[in-house]
Amino acid sequence: MSNKDLLGRRNFIKGMGAAAGVAMAAPALAVSESANGVKWDKEVEVLIIGSGFAGLAAAIEATRKGAKDVHIFEKMSYFGGNSAINGGLFAAPDTPMQKQEGVKDSVDTMVADQLAAGRGIADEALLRHVAEHAVEALQMTLDAGSEYHPYLQQLGGHSVARTYQTTVSCGAGITQPLLQECRKLGVHTHNRAKFDGFILDEKGGVVGVKMREGYYFDKPESGELVRIKARRGVIMATGGFAQNINMRMAQDPTLTAEVGCTNAPGATGEGMFEMFRLGAVPVHLAHIQSGPWASPDEGGFGYVSNYSIYNFPHSIAIDRLTGKRFMNEIADRKTRADAELNCRDAQGNALPPILITSYEDSKQHPNTKKVLKYNVGWKFDSIDALAKHFEVPLAPLKKQIAEYNEYVKTQSDPQFGKNMTEAKGKFIQAPFTVVRLWPKVHYCQGGVQINTKAEVKDSLTGKPISGLYAAGEVCGGIHGVSRLGSCSIPECMVMGMTAARIMMQA
Ligand SMILES: Cc1cc2nc3c(=O)[nH]c(=O)nc-3n(C[C@H](O)[C@H](O)[C@H](O)COP(=O)(O)OP(=O)(O)OC[C@H]3O[C@@H](n4cnc5c(N)ncnc54)[C@H](O)[C@@H]3O)c2cc1C
Repeated sequence: MSNKDLLGRRNFIKGMGAAAGVAMAAPALAVSESANGVKWDKEVEVLIIGSGFAGLAAAIEATRKGAKDVHIFEKMSYFGGNSAINGGLFAAPDTPMQKQEGVKDSVDTMVADQLAAGRGIADEALLRHVAEHAVEALQMTLDAGSEYHPYLQQLGGHSVARTYQTTVSCGAGITQPLLQECRKLGVHTHNRAKFDGFILDEKGGVVGVKMREGYYFDKPESGELVRIKARRGVIMATGGFAQNINMRMAQDPTLTAEVGCTNAPGATGEGMFEMFRLGAVPVHLAHIQSGPWASPDEGGFGYVSNYSIYNFPHSIAIDRLTGKRFMNEIADRKTRADAELNCRDAQGNALPPILITSYEDSKQHPNTKKVLKYNVGWKFDSIDALAKHFEVPLAPLKKQIAEYNEYVKTQSDPQFGKNMTEAKGKFIQAPFTVVRLWPKVHYCQGGVQINTKAEVKDSLTGKPISGLYAAGEVCGGIHGVSRLGSCSIPECMVMGMTAARIMMQA
């Protein structure tokens, strides 16, 4: 089987059917209303809110399953949300590329890795459902025209290399082809259309939505209110709330406007909050993830994030006060972000640690040129020059590098227990590339609770709310305390596909 055809046709068919400034543009008040006596302005078959991975995958799948009138509504003037600016890193177990590279993996192994990072509160059934169907989602992207680097990466917390990355190192390498595929299939895509509340039947089931058409994100009351009937139901794919500073500070007061954020401005969460108002179960809202690979020297995700994600396995992270390593560079995100936040000077001020990589190994990644060009990363010919630039004590740093290079040789890290497989033969030696690290708010592990059919559960009854499905980062509880890198794309896409399949069977 080629890398372009990850599923046998039969497998594919069998599928899963069985089963900060801008952020303050506060969401306008949205209230659900009764369908009794409503004058509908429009009627559609499948109504999807949000145009990221979850919404796009749902639209394609609904069409493939026979829907004739599928509509995606997006509040921003552009499509793609966080998905379009993401790193394009996509984890899946048991792939052809793993077989080629001799990597042994399975659904069980991927789920076990995620459960460990979830620290006992992840949702195993959902993780398993996603892992079982991740290859189908990857296949959907390939069918639409996405292209991936011909090698796999091992990201933090993953016990093996299982992560594909788009050749453009960006989620747009997936959202653009999916959007084009949607349009080829006749999906109607509407921008500047903001979901503003549900319309309910007499039993409290969702039968339509209120929408502001012609909406401008920086003018919360803008747009004309229309009422749209959804014959088969509504799929909420509106993403997380990391850009909503009030909400994130309500969950964690340390996440002030001063803390950097990697998200697109539209990640303000009102779709999620409206589902809570309807009775959806809120889960794990306080678990807001910070990305340990981000740099304080640039805005948002920038160039350093993808650079360091690629380089962590064969690099050392150094506390500038001590000149020593302070963490396993490929531990899960929470472990690393917490360790970085502890890097302080003698007065307790933030002292961003540095990631040191041999230039020869770092230059394999396309972002290396960019981090050097834009002065968010630096090249040094000697340890002495590096230590002087970052004011790191020289003797301990030299000793640390010598010790770490022994770990590379012996393939064992007694200091922090790092898995040294991907570091094999990659010694820390001059010339060096160095970036600074400091965590940024990145991902909401919390959201509405769903089941493996992407149905939204009601807080009082525990039963699904009729006519309502949710997929992607708007959902919560799947990953528990710490989502592993590259596991959101498969989750968003598989749950979007699932929502569409279940809706089309209903
Ligand atoms: C910079 C960055 C890099 C990342 N890199 C990776 C990676 O490499 N791999 C990985 O697995 N994960 C990554 N993630 C996480 C992942 O990208 C997100 O979790 C994922 O994109 C969420 O997809 P989604 O479809 O749920 O929501 P989104 O992609 O955020 O889409 C939601 C859409 O809904 C729209 N919307 C919101 N409210 C309304 C409303 N009221 N009315 C109408 N529309 C609305 C938004 O404008 C948005 O376009 C990254 C995240 C970021 C921010």
